[in-house]
Amino acid sequence: MADTLDLFADPIDLTAALVDVRSVSGEEAEIADLVERSLRLHAPHLEITRSGNAVLARTNLGKERRVVLAGHLDTVPVNENFPSRREGGVLHGCGTVDMKGGDAVMLAIAALSENARHDLTFVFYDCEEIEAERNGLTRIQRELEQWLHGDLAIVCEPSNGVVEAGCQGTMRIEVTTTGKRAHTARAWMGENAIHGMGEALRRLAAYEPRQPEIDGCRYHEGLQAVKITGGVAGNVVPDGCVLTVNHRFAPDRTVEQAEQHLREVFEGFDVQVTDFAAGALPGLGAPAAQELVEAAGGTPVAKLGWTDVARFAALGMPAVNFGPGDPTLAHTREENVPVQQITGCSAVLKRFLLD
Ligand SMILES: [Zn+2]
Repeated sequence: MADTLDLFADPIDLTAALVDVRSVSGEEAEIADLVERSLRLHAPHLEITRSGNAVLARTNLGKERRVVLAGHLDTVPVNENFPSRREGGVLHGCGTVDMKGGDAVMLAIAALSENARHDLTFVFYDCEEIEAERNGLTRIQRELEQWLHGDLAIVCEPSNGVVEAGCQGTMRIEVTTTGKRAHTARAWMGENAIHGMGEALRRLAAYEPRQPEIDGCRYHEGLQAVKITGGVAGNVVPDGCVLTVNHRFAPDRTVEQAEQHLREVFEGFDVQVTDFAAGALPGLGAPAAQELVEAAGGTPVAKLGWTDVARFAALGMPAVNFGPGDPTLAHTREENVPVQQITGCSAVLKRFLLD
């Protein structure tokens, strides 16, 4: 492996070079060292710091606005898809979509950022693909929070080269019914908790999710039963049943409002919230976000899944996903990216940040 990456190379080649450095979550030291060395060599104008296996770099040009670009360096475990392989206009391999194409575009911008239009911060972080507590951004927020602040955050996760704004929140609840055990031969002496759940399931089946439009982006909420447990034995009237429900809610609702809504839907039932994550408003009204949307052409769309944009939104900044590749290929063995999407994303960000 080369000692440094050529950050002035075509971002397609840069993507392949990054893919060829194995960096499964928790094993990012080699790629983080490589990224740091390459930035120090090719972009000496940047202020650079390390946080574990994350590399942070920023300009200090005194501009009115700061744009933060973030990309994780780790991948899911390789699955007979390492190293990279190029076939015609398509680059295959672990991390091509999620998200070394985005990292490559960020590195190319970083190398050229000496005279950027906005101040720029680049966050290359570790352990995104595993539990949130180990996520590099969690640590960075704890130790170096001021590095994450700006007027717009762009998380360069795959979005098919379209600006995906904000993201939906998620909440899991447990709905519990209780009854009274009895021998099934004398069922009238008991009370069946599983039967008692019938009404909750009917409400779910009849539920009509909202599709609110925010800043021109249409969100699509969801309310789904994801698990049900109950039962004691084959001849006992069950005295307990627990239904787990996952709610995906548009970012015009806070976590508290989402919880209130679920308590209304399941009124009369015992409801317990087990976990949640707030959504992120698209914030496309902000000037820096408008400039990005203009540079990207096309119409921004709503991000439906939860991503790290929500962490930036929680810091009070508009945050979008924008990166090469089809997100539905992420984490698959067939992971691949059409190389012209890498070129396209790179051109948009150059237009927005450098020209
Ligand atoms: Zn990712």
